[in-house]
Amino acid sequence: MFPSLTSLNLEIERSVVRQRRISVLGATGSIGESTLDLIGRDPSSYQVIALTGGHNAARLAELAIRHRAELAVIADPEGYPVLRQALSGTGIEIGAGEAALLEAAGRPADWVMAAIVGAAGLKPTLEAVRQGSLTALANKECLVSAGDIFMAEVARAKATLLPVDSEHSAAMQVMAGARPERIEGICLTASGGPFRNWSLDAMRTARCEQALDHPNWSMGPKVTIDSATLMNKGLELLEAHHLFSLPAAKLDVLIHPQSIVHCLVYLSDGSVLAQMSCPDMRTPIAYSLAWPERMHAPTERLDLAALGTLSFEAPDFERFPALRLAREVLAAGGSAGTVLNAANEVAVEAFLGGKIGFLAIAALVEATLESSADLSARHRRSVEDVLAIDAEARAKARSLLKRFA
Ligand code: NAD
Ligand code: MG
Repeated sequence: MFPSLTSLNLEIERSVVRQRRISVLGATGSIGESTLDLIGRDPSSYQVIALTGGHNAARLAELAIRHRAELAVIADPEGYPVLRQALSGTGIEIGAGEAALLEAAGRPADWVMAAIVGAAGLKPTLEAVRQGSLTALANKECLVSAGDIFMAEVARAKATLLPVDSEHSAAMQVMAGARPERIEGICLTASGGPFRNWSLDAMRTARCEQALDHPNWSMGPKVTIDSATLMNKGLELLEAHHLFSLPAAKLDVLIHPQSIVHCLVYLSDGSVLAQMSCPDMRTPIAYSLAWPERMHAPTERLDLAALGTLSFEAPDFERFPALRLAREVLAAGGSAGTVLNAANEVAVEAFLGGKIGFLAIAALVEATLESSADLSARHRRSVEDVLAIDAEARAKARSLLKRFA
């Protein structure tokens, strides 16, 4: 039978629909580049709508040209002249500054990767959520800082959030099909970072390049430092709490130096389910991109015989106090997560800038939390309230900085 004109039209429509409209917030970062690496391997399946970057306008322009983006936005207004020159004559729309960033995030798309680092990603990620696309969430700081408000917006927009953080992607994959009341707990694994076996004395004088030298993962500088202090795992506990509505008592952390098992889920019949893969963020990104299906990812295949051993150990809260602080914040609830996140961003920036030592990162976060009880207890109703608390906590952390210099 020959297809009728209407069914032909339908076919054409379907093939257009099949080309998924994709935006990447934080395209110039580690997660952004990995996402575009996957998309670039199958360009006919995707139409790139918006790409955004923070400061590197030249790289953003290259990516926009390579992926034929509709729109490229640089958050830092000083990047505008570089972007304009690099994209002149290409037909790619350009923009700079916060308003343009929010417009890019809210431009209709089928799937948005939210991979801006830090609380700076909160408003753009919420724009993506509100326009109703599937949102692949790499930006864990959104949830740490504003989890309650963020998740309420997700529910209000009836949006779908797909975790990209490898542990949370693993948890989502493993928990699928299990009734919430049958989940006794989940355990996030941590590599332990470059200082896993270092003494406190040795860590006191750890240099920046040593902290940036992660044994297993290649990531942006902020999350790499967070992995060295184990604050990253602390942030991830808060992330899991909000994503999966799990109480603190059901969330645990295990050190697993090989970074092969990403999360363990403990079920009521004694079963423990885990997800494994080689440490390459393109695996969880591919899961979020193909969800609810699976796609090919060009990552190394796991060879357990060659690896031989998978090992696990309990975390050391004394040498890694950031993890203890995050646990305390998780128990406290309220706005304590906003204070923790803001202070940590200030501390990591100060460490990367050579202003404080490695151990001072957690010490500054602790001091900020101690002197911000009022902020932690402050009720918030909106993102603006969160951002006001965030700004005050940053100011407090900056004022305490010289104590640790
Ligand atoms: P990155 O530093 O490599 O990239 C961050 C991106 O955000 C860049 O495009 C940067 O230009 C942009 N950006 C920075 N400041 C901005 C601002 N003020 N406004 C707008 N854009 C800004 O970081 P990353 O490693 O790709 O991490 C991104 C997020 O994903 C973080 O929240 C991180 O915790 C999370 N994450 C990363 C990994 C990883 O393997 N890299 C794994 C799990 C989770
Ligand atoms: Mg992680």
